[in-house]
Amino acid sequence: METTLHNSAATAEAGPVRNLGHGEDFTAHMFSARWSEQHGWHDAGLRAIEYLSLHPATVGLHYGQVAFEGLKAHRQVDGKMGVFRPLWNADRFRRSARRLAMPEIPEELFLRAVEELVVADRSCLPEDLSRSLYLRPLLFATDVSLMLRPAREYRFLLMAFVAGGFFGDDTESISVWVDDEYSRAFPGGTGDVKIAGNYAPTFVAQQRAQQADCQQVLWLDAMEHRWLEELGGMNVFLVRGRGADAEVITPELTGTLLPGATRDSILTLASRLGYAPREERISLNQLRTGCANGEISEMFACGTAAVVTPVRRICEPGGQFTVGDGPIGPVTRELCAALTGVQRGTVPDVDRWVYRIER
Ligand SMILES: *Cc1c(COP(=O)(O)O)cnc(C)c1O
Repeated sequence: METTLHNSAATAEAGPVRNLGHGEDFTAHMFSARWSEQHGWHDAGLRAIEYLSLHPATVGLHYGQVAFEGLKAHRQVDGKMGVFRPLWNADRFRRSARRLAMPEIPEELFLRAVEELVVADRSCLPEDLSRSLYLRPLLFATDVSLMLRPAREYRFLLMAFVAGGFFGDDTESISVWVDDEYSRAFPGGTGDVKIAGNYAPTFVAQQRAQQADCQQVLWLDAMEHRWLEELGGMNVFLVRGRGADAEVITPELTGTLLPGATRDSILTLASRLGYAPREERISLNQLRTGCANGEISEMFACGTAAVVTPVRRICEPGGQFTVGDGPIGPVTRELCAALTGVQRGTVPDVDRWVYRIER
C-alpha cells in the first residue's frame, strides 16, 4: 500500500517559527519493529507508510507510554546524505524509554532504521539545501489491556517528512510569552525526557501565547516560578556582553528541562568560536534587568526543527520588553552559520557529529 499521509507536521518543537515544509507530506516509507517479552525486538524492517490498526484498549493511548525523538538528515555539499548526531538522539531515546519503563531501542537498530529510511526516501530532498529531512522516531505500548502497569508489547516506528532547511538568514525573530499559571515540568517529573505526555498539557499556555501575539511559551521553573527553563520544544540561549568577550549562556540542566542536541552543539561551537559558554541559572528578573541596561544583547531559541531562531520580545501578563537591537544579533548569526555549516558539510566536522550515509 503506497499511501502518502497528509499531515500538519506538528512537531513538538515546531510552532510557527519557520513553517517551511511543516504541513507537507510524509515520505513514502516507514521503519517498523516490535518488541515482546518473549522475542525482544523482532519483525524489524522498512515498509510503505500506512495507517495503524489499533485496538481501542491499546495501553499507549490510555496511559501515555509513548516516547519520541526528532532529528534531521541533510544533503551534504557533495550530494551525499548526512544525519546530524543520530547516536545522541538514540541515547536520549533510550533514556526516555527507561523513564517510562519501556524497552530501550538498541543503538544498532536505531541507526539501521535511520539509514534504511533515509536511503529509501532521500529522493524527496532537493539538491539545493533549502530543505532537510525531519526524522521522527516513535515508541509506544501496544498491549491490549487497561491494567495500570507497564505494557508487555511495544512498537517502534520511524517516519520522515521534508522540512525547512538552512536559510538561517531569513529567519524571523519570535516573541515569547511567560505564563504565570502553568508549569511544563517539575522536580521528579519527566521534563528531562522526550515523552508524549509532556506536550498536550502545554497547549493551553501555547494558546494563551498566541492570544498575546507570541509564538512560543517561555517556561519558568515550577517551584519558584522565577528561573528560565526553555521553550515549548526548544532550548533557550542568551548572549551577555558584546564582541569577542561575549558569553553564550543557557539555563543549566536541572532535571526539569530537556537536554537538546542543538543546545549541546551550540555550547561546543560557542567555545570553538572563542565565546565563553556558560550553563547557569538565569532568573526572569535578571533577564528583564539585563535587557533594560543592555548587558544582555541577544537571545535565541534552538532545536532540531527551528535550528536557531532569534527571540526579540518577551511578553508577560503585566507588560513586555525587548532584547537587543535588531532582528538577529551577530553572535546568534555566527552560531547559526557554524551549526548549519557542519550539518551541510561546508565547515569541518571536528566533533564527528554527521553520520554520513555512503550508500
Ligand atoms: C525536542 C525538544 C528540544 C530540542 O531538542 P533538540 O535535540 O535540540 O531538537 C528542547 N526542548 C524540548 C521540550 C523538546 O521537546
